[in-house]
Amino acid sequence: MIKIPTKVLVVDDEKDFVEMLSLRLKEEGEKVTPVYSGKECLETLEEKEIDVVILDIKMPGMDGIETLREIKKRFPLVEVIMLTGHGTTETAVEGMKLGALDYLLKPADFDDLSAKLEVARKRKDEQEERIRKAEARFLLRKVGEI
Ligand SMILES: [Mg+2]
Repeated sequence: MIKIPTKVLVVDDEKDFVEMLSLRLKEEGEKVTPVYSGKECLETLEEKEIDVVILDIKMPGMDGIETLREIKKRFPLVEVIMLTGHGTTETAVEGMKLGALDYLLKPADFDDLSAKLEVARKRKDEQEERIRKAEARFLLRKVGEI
């Protein structure tokens, strides 16, 4: 079976971490875009179709929570997995209340990340499918009214 790549946006100010994670995800067959700030994250979402954002909480300038709020406001169907170090787990939970799917403790265990990525992808696909069906029902009803 051919694997459909998940379009992943990795956002972290630690360049080495972003590169390592991006490489691993590419090896798994995912389509990865690496960026290094919240601002770049939002710019990328404007330009590219993205399924899942892996988002660091602690970043200079626009932090992860601020970025998450903007993502959920402007791109509500995009799934977000937060990246947290020790000491910011509470913030990660706050992120989940704001609509993030889950969080990962750094340094992220790759199997754990893969599993969460799959959940995120599935949730996004299902939500898009529900929207398609609702739109189709709406159109059928409109046709019926004519
Ligand atoms: Mg950071």
